Amino acid sequence: MKSATEIAASVNAGALAVTELESSLAVIAQKNEELNVFLYVDEEGAYAAARAVDEKVARGEFAGVLAGVPVALKDNMCTRGVPTTCSSKILAGWKPPYNATVVDRLLAAGAVPVGKTNLDEFAMGSSTENSAFGPTKNPLDPTRVPGGSSGGSAAAVAAMMTPISLGSDTGGSIRQPAALCGLVGVKATYGLVSRYGLIAFASSLDQIGPFATNVTDAALVLEAICGHDARDSTSLPESAPSLVAHINDGVAGQRVGIVRELIEGSDDDVERAVTRAAAVLREAGAELVEMSIPELKLGLSAYYLIAPAEASSNLARYDGVRYGLRMDGVDVAAMNEATRTAGFGAEVKRRIMLGTYALSSGYYDEYYAQALKVRTQMIASFARAYGQVDMLIGATTPSVAFKFGTKTQDPLAMYLNDVFTIPTNLSGDAAVSIPFGTGEENLPIGVQLLGPGRSEARLLAAGRVLEIAEGRS
Ligand code: GLN
Repeated sequence: MKSATEIAASVNAGALAVTELESSLAVIAQKNEELNVFLYVDEEGAYAAARAVDEKVARGEFAGVLAGVPVALKDNMCTRGVPTTCSSKILAGWKPPYNATVVDRLLAAGAVPVGKTNLDEFAMGSSTENSAFGPTKNPLDPTRVPGGSSGGSAAAVAAMMTPISLGSDTGGSIRQPAALCGLVGVKATYGLVSRYGLIAFASSLDQIGPFATNVTDAALVLEAICGHDARDSTSLPESAPSLVAHINDGVAGQRVGIVRELIEGSDDDVERAVTRAAAVLREAGAELVEMSIPELKLGLSAYYLIAPAEASSNLARYDGVRYGLRMDGVDVAAMNEATRTAGFGAEVKRRIMLGTYALSSGYYDEYYAQALKVRTQMIASFARAYGQVDMLIGATTPSVAFKFGTKTQDPLAMYLNDVFTIPTNLSGDAAVSIPFGTGEENLPIGVQLLGPGRSEARLLAAGRVLEIAEGRS
């Protein structure tokens, strides 16, 4: 498969975007039934976007940095007139009246959105097994999960249906599936990418970001979608960072902390990959520092109070009146109850109950307020670490892709998959997952690079060093 960078260059030079779209649709047609990646393929919209690009090029105009690049969107991003489900029955039949800012920015950059990908319902999960529309299979081994919650967007790229896709990361939902599918995934600094039109899960944690097969493509996409947006009150006011221009900056002179808590508990092959990746950075001129940040271990517990608390509030809007599904009832309360009972799956109900419990009077101080204090501690401990080093390195996930059904009976086992990714969401900083080495059954391993807010250029440049060392350039 051609990279996004190559496609955009060739389309701007006169190759047809429509031809690129046709190849993408052909792969989707061939593989989607088996893998269950796309919930909806918007052929009409995609052809319209591709034709607009071709017309622009024909007029002699520059058609954008993503000209003619097919892109898959996680189905929690609003697309005007195109079904948007969050993989939930409760949004059945709903078509948003507007585009998410990221969708408009992709279109402005010449990209061609081809459709909406499967996810864990409302982005709650780590395997796509919580989707109301069945799980997505990992294209590298269809007996295993692609990760989640953005499993469909990761699988779209891993199956070569589209060269790039967008996911959202609240607790690891871009980095974890990127690791399990052998892709680059970026969780940008909170506020760097607009959340306008991203269906809210936990608003203080949610961030949209790219999946790609290589670091340069990831930088290209992130650069195209980030930057201030007046329609998101948490959008950072600064202008968009320059990423692609710095992709070959390397790591010479950078201090890199190897964090014990971001490795401990992972499989041996994962641990070996992280150690080897750190050695590659050292050979490229970085200085390695062994570090321990004990507070990171508290992240998971704090997250599973804060995220459900915010979700319980955000999901109150699905009442049978404003969106999608409505079940009948004798009065409004009965209608609300019947709708939510029928519309939400088991995990979403679990989160709503956890969240309302944590926020309820009498328990608020003990749970929610306590979790917020842990979050403040997390922010402080990352800040201390970044006072000593330029970036941190660790594992993205404790293991390679796991088999279907192995963690569905035990929510805690599933939650533990995000133990290394969650701390960055709590602090609002940046982190990327870079495919590096393989483990069991030759499945890919993800190495995580973490940095302070707005350090994306530095992290991607370090990722590029790892990618070159792996012979992928
Ligand atoms: N797996 C985590 C959860 O279930 C994170 C999900 C996400 O990042 N959207 O909440």
